[in-house]
Amino acid sequence: MTERMAHNDTAAAGREKRPAVAIVMPCYNEEAMLDISVPVILGILDRLCALGLADSRSFLLCVDDGSSDATWTIIARHHEADNRVKGISLSHNRGQQNAMLAGLMTVRPLCDAAITIDADLQDSPDALIEMVRRYCDGDDIVYGVRSSRQTDTWFKRTSARAFYRLQRSLGLETVYDHSEFRLMGRRALDILSEYGESNLYLRGIMPNIGLRSSIVTYDRAARAAGETKYSVAKLIATSIDGITSFTARPMRLIFLVGLALLLIDVAVSVWVLVSRFCGTAISGWSSLMLSVWFLGSLILIALGIIGEYIGKIFVEVKRRPRYSVSDSIF
Ligand code: UDP
Ligand code: MG
Repeated sequence: MTERMAHNDTAAAGREKRPAVAIVMPCYNEEAMLDISVPVILGILDRLCALGLADSRSFLLCVDDGSSDATWTIIARHHEADNRVKGISLSHNRGQQNAMLAGLMTVRPLCDAAITIDADLQDSPDALIEMVRRYCDGDDIVYGVRSSRQTDTWFKRTSARAFYRLQRSLGLETVYDHSEFRLMGRRALDILSEYGESNLYLRGIMPNIGLRSSIVTYDRAARAAGETKYSVAKLIATSIDGITSFTARPMRLIFLVGLALLLIDVAVSVWVLVSRFCGTAISGWSSLMLSVWFLGSLILIALGIIGEYIGKIFVEVKRRPRYSVSDSIF
């Protein structure tokens, strides 16, 4: 069921036996789901405590991402009934990534490990127990990875696969079929807090953080109630963020295409000049062809060079930590 990805045995040393676990749940217009998901998560917290895997400070934080329905009222009602249910409400809809970050940064001083899970419980809450077990064994990040995509529509399945492949080919480190269901230990949360970027794409940041990590696989269910909050436009926007926040390689491609065109231009020039001197070309065609090809490749090369500098600016403005220390012995 699990697979170790990186190893660092000192990580487990000194780890608390019963961590305080915070479950972070982004909620956007989830009034149809919350009465189902909150009791399930509370049940999981009970099981974690009964198994000796979490201590009684463990809690659930619902992040209302600027919902326009009764989501906040429902969260408040659950808090009244059981104060392990906490809530924060964002002043405006900021998207799942920002809602999760807000939740993670809120729980950071209050827990030893945080787990993000969607409010629709499509990601199996049972896998949560295995994640905490992994954490107790010394992993700092545990990725929930779905074992199949049978519950997705054909469009979502195909586009997701293509997207992962594209990301990989552009040099991004990503965990295949991992969405936003993951555990992060406090060290990982501390490092995450140093990432200053606004165009957040947590799936890309996690492997970048490093630390000891592993995978827990689970079967992803269909949404029990309510509708997906991701329109095709929102999916495309998140996908573009996922690439443009991590790599400037597309800009380097412009330069390479420019160079390739310059090479082709040599062959085209020979063909144009031969046609010109054999008299098969009409007047004006040769000079036009020569300049179009030559100028086209020069423009692309120039854009590629500008792109290289923009790529540098792009890395600088993110102000990501240049390194993070995971352990030290003096
Ligand atoms: N979500 C959010 N803000 C948004 C969109 C979604 O907080 O702007 C939350 C949503 O409430 C859910 C999670 O992100 O808990 C995943 O959304 P959804 O289940 O609609 O996505 P899908 O599973 O269809 O990809
Ligand atoms: Mg969902």
